[in-house]
Amino acid sequence: MKFSEIFIPTLREVPADAVIASHRLMFRAGMLRKLANGLFAYLPLGLRAFRKVERIIREEMDAVGCLEIKPTVITPGELWKESGRWETMGESMLRVKNRAGADFVVSPTAEEAVTSIVRDELSSYKQLPLSVYQINTKYRDEIRPRYGVMRAREFTMKDAYSYHRDEDSLDNTYQAMGAAYRRIFKRCGLTVIPVRADSGAMGGANSEEFMVESDIGDNTLLLCKSCDYAANVEKAGCQPDSPNFPQNAALKMEKISTPHTKTIVELCEFLKTDARSFIKTLVYRAVNVERDLSDAPGCAGLKKRRVAPGAPEVYDEAFFAVCIRGDLDVNEVKLAAILKAGDASLACDADVVRITGAPVGFAGPVGLSTVPVIADPTVAAMRDAVTGALEADFHYAHVAVGRDWTPWLTADIRTVKAGDHCPVCGSELYEKKGNELGHIFKLGYKYTKAMNVRYLDENGASQIPVMGTYGIGVDRTLASIIEEYHDDAGIVWPMSVAPFHVVVIPIKYEGKIKEAVDILAMELEKRGVEFLIDDRNERPGVKFNDADLIGVPLRVVVSEKNLPNIEMKLRKGKNVFLVEIPEAAQRIVAMAYSEAGK
Ligand code: ATP
Ligand code: MG
Repeated sequence: MKFSEIFIPTLREVPADAVIASHRLMFRAGMLRKLANGLFAYLPLGLRAFRKVERIIREEMDAVGCLEIKPTVITPGELWKESGRWETMGESMLRVKNRAGADFVVSPTAEEAVTSIVRDELSSYKQLPLSVYQINTKYRDEIRPRYGVMRAREFTMKDAYSYHRDEDSLDNTYQAMGAAYRRIFKRCGLTVIPVRADSGAMGGANSEEFMVESDIGDNTLLLCKSCDYAANVEKAGCQPDSPNFPQNAALKMEKISTPHTKTIVELCEFLKTDARSFIKTLVYRAVNVERDLSDAPGCAGLKKRRVAPGAPEVYDEAFFAVCIRGDLDVNEVKLAAILKAGDASLACDADVVRITGAPVGFAGPVGLSTVPVIADPTVAAMRDAVTGALEADFHYAHVAVGRDWTPWLTADIRTVKAGDHCPVCGSELYEKKGNELGHIFKLGYKYTKAMNVRYLDENGASQIPVMGTYGIGVDRTLASIIEEYHDDAGIVWPMSVAPFHVVVIPIKYEGKIKEAVDILAMELEKRGVEFLIDDRNERPGVKFNDADLIGVPLRVVVSEKNLPNIEMKLRKGKNVFLVEIPEAAQRIVAMAYSEAGK
């Protein structure tokens, strides 16, 4: 292919909002243009690289027996109403009406669409397990699209869905998907960190995210210095540490006056003590709570309701007091998972005052009966603690859990930090920032139940299949490759995803040089090597700069002075080799294929 015939609008300038390398380079290399905030158009060079990533994904999905389908991007609103997500997805979901006034959704994901297709076709256990994927457009009305295609509004996702008779079968596919993901990212040249992730109400080791380390990543990862434990902070656990603080369990609880001290820091100063001796009590509001609260203090008046016919019954909202040791923080994702809630966040001041009967800053579990109290295990172990007395300017000292109050529930709700100890081997954990490229997830029965998917088992009994879901962001993967493979001059594509294997630069595309280039091109064409001939009437310096910018892994320069030899250079290397044309063609072919990651 000839440079002059392809639309590759390279740029010197970068858009002002392009703060990361991949965003800058995708624009500068003429791969991408912006249509509107969060909406991007791929130009030929960008699309060629994009297709390479897609191809790797397709090959690896097909290899694990998951086959491609092509549902629509626009999906009937009815399906989302069936699953309950019409109500719960909120404003990130783009809804449209057709001329007849019927509701539609521009797919942000496709559990409903695929489950509805499977529901219509599934009748017998003999059809299971069943898994399919699509590589298709998704739309999420992200509040703040940023970093180019890393967080766009419209993007392409590979999303796979699997249906099974039982957990064992689901686990087999889940493991196979995990292995396929490792191969996909490896073939893309990416160093990914698979981490344990939050799986909402599912719990257990049911979800894994594939992260790349990134300064702009919006995930915090905790990794063990000794073993291979790695987890998203949303999920990360740690070994219980001893508070290492003197506790005298024999002392009686005592109400103490603590004027003008609302924060733990102020209290520490006032009482000359350590944050680890405090029980921090925070009031949380959780929405769409599935966990049963019928035995929970203060919840007698709460009523559950069903947002969709097959969906589980939930409480619209419920409040909780959450107790954690003074030096630690509550992990809201863990809290929501324990409550099987859609979301859990700090209650507003007015709710805190109403629930605790005291100004903000004096909440405590002793004598609190308006809401259920949830305690972290670090609190459950405290025998001589300080906590708010539900009264302005007063605290309790020498509080012993189990003696002076008892939590409704004790559960791990702690935010794990660097320096905490690995739950597997006890070594220290450290932190990294990560960007999520893919996610595999055991979904359980949530959608199949809500949408009433059924099959008959070998005894003729009607059963509901269990489901898994597996996503990869194609655009984000592509951008992450550029993040990992670039230098000051531009992109340095790994061969496996490069838009072209080789760029051929004739110093001038005429005469003997042209003849040599055309012979080389014929050889390469025959062998399926993807090449770009820079036939433009530009100075060599311009061509070299552009070749470096667009990052083609192999550069061939044809000049009169070197003929019949040509000059070969790897984009990532410094050395230049002079090789005669017939041999050069063979070497190029060998390099294109050996490094193509096949
Ligand atoms: P994030 O936490 O980054 O918003 P998510 O958890 O919402 O991602 P999933 O629903 O698991 O993402 O989607 C699967 C994959 O789709 C993600 O791993 C990511 O690679 C990609 N993805 C999600 N949202 C976007 C977006 N706005 N722009 C580009 N890719 C995205
Ligand atoms: Mg995710």
